[in-house]
Amino acid sequence: MHSDTPSPSDTQQDPHDRSKPPLGRRSFLARAGTGLGVTALGLGATAAARPEAPARTPSFQSGRPIVFRGATVVTGDPQLGVQHNADVLVVGSTIRAVGRNVPAPASAAVIDGRDRILMPGMIDTHRHMWQTVVRGVGAEWTIQNYLQWIYKDWSKHWRPEDVYAGNYLSMVEALNSGVTTSLDWSQVLHTPEHADAAADALFDSKGRARLAYGNIFAPPQEWIGNGDVDRLLRTRFSSKNQLVTLQLAWDAPWDTAFPDRPAWEFARDRDLMVTQHAGVWGFPLDLGIKILHDNGFLLPTNTYVHASSLGDDSYRMIADTGGNVSISAESELNAGQGYPPTGKIRRHGIPISLSMDTSVWWSSDMFSAMRATLNADRGLDHLEAHAEGKTVHNNDLRTEDVIHYATQGGANALGLGSSLGSITPGKLADLVLLRADTPSMVPLTNPCHQIVFQATRAEVDTVLVDGRVLKYGGELVHPDMKRAKRLAEASRDHVRDLVGAQEWAQAQDPPAYRVA
Ligand SMILES: [Zn+2]
Repeated sequence: MHSDTPSPSDTQQDPHDRSKPPLGRRSFLARAGTGLGVTALGLGATAAARPEAPARTPSFQSGRPIVFRGATVVTGDPQLGVQHNADVLVVGSTIRAVGRNVPAPASAAVIDGRDRILMPGMIDTHRHMWQTVVRGVGAEWTIQNYLQWIYKDWSKHWRPEDVYAGNYLSMVEALNSGVTTSLDWSQVLHTPEHADAAADALFDSKGRARLAYGNIFAPPQEWIGNGDVDRLLRTRFSSKNQLVTLQLAWDAPWDTAFPDRPAWEFARDRDLMVTQHAGVWGFPLDLGIKILHDNGFLLPTNTYVHASSLGDDSYRMIADTGGNVSISAESELNAGQGYPPTGKIRRHGIPISLSMDTSVWWSSDMFSAMRATLNADRGLDHLEAHAEGKTVHNNDLRTEDVIHYATQGGANALGLGSSLGSITPGKLADLVLLRADTPSMVPLTNPCHQIVFQATRAEVDTVLVDGRVLKYGGELVHPDMKRAKRLAEASRDHVRDLVGAQEWAQAQDPPAYRVA
């Protein structure tokens, strides 16, 4: 199925394959060019005859162009829309052309896109990757349980090699799952060795990542001046155009005296973005936003994670200052930070991205994030209407909206929106090919609908990051899963041994909580 084969556009097509999906309201489907032409970037003299059809798996040696042939391409680009039976040419790290019958260099490796959906790589804007070594421990937790065990009692047990193991496994999971960019919200970087380990794992994965440097062992104003962030900027993150980049992570302030000021000034002076948990029930809510506002640090480079228990004034201030919100719907619904606020946030026009938070409970499954976000948003609309004796006749939030949040929205949140997030000529080639011939996906009628409600990680067939093939034909090419397993199991055993058998068992079955 994945051998070099003749382009499907050269072959007789089943007329049923040409059926178009229904047009959506504000849809990029409606604006689709439907593949009638080729949108290309600088093809010029490189255009050449189609490659012949060798019968073997193509090799993807460095520098070899890649062309996807005959795919259903969900570009996420408002001008290009969804294209059927379309081709996408990748040269180097860049998408060069999208459309029907795209000319490609004779040297190009062909990936058969028939019975496949090609979509932009998904982007997770908030993951505590170091915690992946204790995956699954906290499925029954609330945020109170999490803060007790992970933050207060257990985080001190993570050695640098445990941070490496968690990050490496988390990147393996993400890349295998079609998540091509992940923000590692890393709040255990209390030594340079921990920070180096976190960065090493991200670089070693070959995925695209943002290391969000944090440290819960001290307030940010205490650790920000210790020189380690500057060391990393100098030695490992001197360019903003590399695969792994750096920003900062700490939580919204709570003290009106604003002792956090030096940390915020540090971020502003170095042009580093800041991601912060904000609007989390049980913590300062609107106060945190007001303190930042009053001190001039509600910045367009801020991401507000959860932002789920805020009042209208806070949302208005975030909107007015260009900030964005990372929604972790599974997290918010399970842990209790507040109800996923997509409805309120959309009404205020605040940009949204999606995230899966931590594998202590959840996964890096962005299909799940899209579904959970739709479920929460629509469920609340129905519930509120019913409370007034009314009926919702048409859902407001649409599948294409949550696909946008999971792709372009994430790129925008990381400041990478002009080079990432859609299948647009000139953008970086972070691409995901989904199988559409599986029991979950047949018949393919509407790709956006089916990406959100039918596709699973099992459909993720081929993954490119920066034009490099990291997964092909359902198999990871890189990074190394066996290595990830070995390292993660060793770190899991280390943490479990220090926690002790009794507490380890108790943590997996905390007493049921009842509101008094
Ligand atoms: Zn978090």
